Parts: sequence; structure tokens; C-alpha cells
Amino acid sequence: MGEAYSPDRGKLDRILLDAAVKAGAELRAGVSLRGLVTDDDGTVTGVRGETEDRTPVVERARVVVGADGSNSTLARLVGAEKYDAHPVLNKSHWSYWEGLPHDGRVRTYRHAGKHAFTWPTHDGLTIVGVALPVGDFKATSEEERDRTVISAFEEVDPQRAELLRRTSRVDRWMTGAVPNFLRRAHGPGWALVGDAGYTRDPITAAGIADALRGAELLAQALDAGLSGSEPLPAALARFGRERDDLVTGHYRYTRDHATIANHTREEIEFIRAMSRSPTHGREMVGMFATMVSPSEFYSAANIHALLDHLEPGGGPGWKLRMVRWLVRGAPRHIPAATRVADRLIAENLGPMGQYLT
Ligand SMILES: Cc1cc2nc3c(=O)[nH]c(=O)nc-3n(C[C@H](O)[C@H](O)[C@H](O)COP(=O)(O)OP(=O)(O)OC[C@H]3O[C@@H](n4cnc5c(N)ncnc54)[C@H](O)[C@@H]3O)c2cc1C
Repeated sequence: MGEAYSPDRGKLDRILLDAAVKAGAELRAGVSLRGLVTDDDGTVTGVRGETEDRTPVVERARVVVGADGSNSTLARLVGAEKYDAHPVLNKSHWSYWEGLPHDGRVRTYRHAGKHAFTWPTHDGLTIVGVALPVGDFKATSEEERDRTVISAFEEVDPQRAELLRRTSRVDRWMTGAVPNFLRRAHGPGWALVGDAGYTRDPITAAGIADALRGAELLAQALDAGLSGSEPLPAALARFGRERDDLVTGHYRYTRDHATIANHTREEIEFIRAMSRSPTHGREMVGMFATMVSPSEFYSAANIHALLDHLEPGGGPGWKLRMVRWLVRGAPRHIPAATRVADRLIAENLGPMGQYLT
């Protein structure tokens, strides 16, 4: 939980491909999935593809795995439906800077409806960007984007803004936006992993970690199903349940973050309280990094532990404010962040939680 890595995507893909080949996989680059081979009852038993020079390819398999991204062709071909879907919530500009001092930290800031972010990656470069709610986002010139991003830092971290001015952007500005959905992750003879099965806003920078963890779950299920230690359909169904259990809490948390709603006074107090408790501070960062589940973090026991930790130095005012927040919810301009926190807390309070919900 103490380290974050932000590898260059091209380099990471190379490492993964080399590891797969070393482990015995046969790699055929440049082949596109176009259709499926199925048996009479619709079970997928293979794929039809095409090489770059349009040569048709047919392969048989006991299970076809679609790791083909959020617009997955396999998902379309098998009709895997989406659920818990939510449209794009924000859009971001990002680019790469050279010459910024590297201290290995991931910095994200939420202020005045902007989410500024920066962290180091390969080759001495640092990613720098800002995400804005969809309604506030404008397609602008490169110079205007420099101003938009640097002024977002200026508002929250003037020293960093000054560093950005004194160093150089070495790439063009890029723009991205991602919808949010889960997709049915398996069916007869097929399974989906990575963004194909679960796509969420990149604001928590969790897509790659989620894809790897999903692949790990599927690998375990396939091992059981193909080795005969469990019937294959049961193993795939288990994978689907485990995938949902693994990601659902964080999915809601991410969607909530992605609205970039301003924090209420209560939330800011809550975050300050976390930072005064080493365990909770670490867990809060761990939650952002998908290592701690939101329902564990917002559990009654964890909140009580926080209150106990604060009691001597924080005074009784803390407890009262926290309890008021828990019982009444946040006032008026209640952002989704607070609602999710309330729901997650309430879900963990047993009968009292049901009453609050
Ligand atoms: C703007 C933006 C910012 C992001 N920031 C982060 C971040 O900071 N941290 C993070 O962890 N994640 C981030 N993500 C999410 C991350 O990129 C994805 O979660 C991750 O790439 C998912 O990996 P994947 O292998 O499932 O899918 P992809 O990376 O989409 O790979 C799918 C592959 O399938 C191939 N393919 C597609 N169709 C076919 C076909 N018919 N036949 C054969 N092959 C096919 C594609 O060519 C591609 O190589 C971001 C995403 C976006 C859009």
C-alpha cells in the first residue's frame, strides 16, 4: 500500500506480452476478432478472425476470453449486457512535463469543481492534467489548456504551479473521457476481463490494477474449470460473482469521485480527521488505490476507531459533528460523495443502518 507505479503504457504492454510468451502463450499480433464459432446450443467454441492482410483465421477453444477493451467485439457478439451503467461524468486534459523534480508522489487535488493531478512516470517525465465535470469542459487551444491546467494548480498548490511554469511541457495536450459500466462477465464458453467487462472513470487511476486483478480471478476459475476440479460453467459463474464482489464498492466510489463535486465542510473535516490518524490516512489512500474496499473503510468499526483515535486531542466537538453527519447526512448542497459515504456507512450499521438508509 505504500507504493504507486505509473508505468508508460507501451512499456507495460511489452512487459506483459513478453511474460505471457515466456509462460508458453502463442502470440499472434495483428489478428482481429470478427466472429464466433458456436455449437448448436449457442456455446462459444472458437473465434473467426482476420490478419492485417485480411487472411481469415479460425481457432477452436473451450473458452474464449475477451480482453478487447470497453468497446469489446466479443461482448457485442455474445450480447453481454451492461448494468449499473452511467454516462461520462468528466473529461480531462493531460500531457507530459520534463524537468519537474521527482519525489515519487501521486498528487491529486479537488477544488472548485476541478480535479488536478500529477505524478511521475518513465524517462524522467511527469504526467500533469486536470479533469473537469462534463458541463465545464471546453475544447480549447493548446495555449488555453496550458492556462487552464496551470491555473487549476495555482489555486491549490502555487509552488507546483510555479514549477510547471519554469519547466517544459514536452508532448501535445491529450483529451479523454470514459463511461462507467459493468458487463455480464461470462456465458457458455466465453468470459470478459479488463475494460471489456468493467469500465470506470479514470479519476481513481484504477483501470490497469482492476484489469490485472480481474485477470487473476479469471485465471483461477479457468484453472479449476479446465483441470476438471470444478465444472467449467460453475467456475465461470464463480468468476462473475467474485469479479462483482471485488469491484462494485470501488465502482460506486469511483463514480462518486468522478462527479468532481466540491467537498462539504463536513467532508473536509472528515478528511482532516483521517490525516491525523496514521492508520486511517493510509487506508483512505489505499481506498483511492483500490487496495482497501470502501465498505471496510466506511464500516462502523472503522469510523468508531477513528473517533476513538481523535478523542484525546480532537475534543468532543469532533464526535458530535461526526454523529450529526452520520445521522442527518450532510446539509443542503449534499454532493454525491457524501451520499455514497452515508450509504456505505449505513450499509454497515445493521438495523440502525437500514433505518438511516
Ligand atoms: C483517458 C484515460 C485515462 C486513463 N488513466 C488511467 C490511469 O491513470 N491508470 C489506470 O490504471 N488506468 C487508466 N485508464 C484506464 C486504462 O487505460 C484501462 O483500464 C486499461 O487500458 C484496460 O486494459 P484492457 O487491456 O482491458 O483494455 P485496452 O487497454 O483497451 O486493450 C484492449 C486491446 O484489445 C484490442 N482489440 C480491440 N478490439 C479487438 C478485436 N476485435 N480483435 C482483436 N483485438 C482487439 C485493442 O487493440 C487493444 O489492444 C485510463 C483510460 C483512459 C481512456
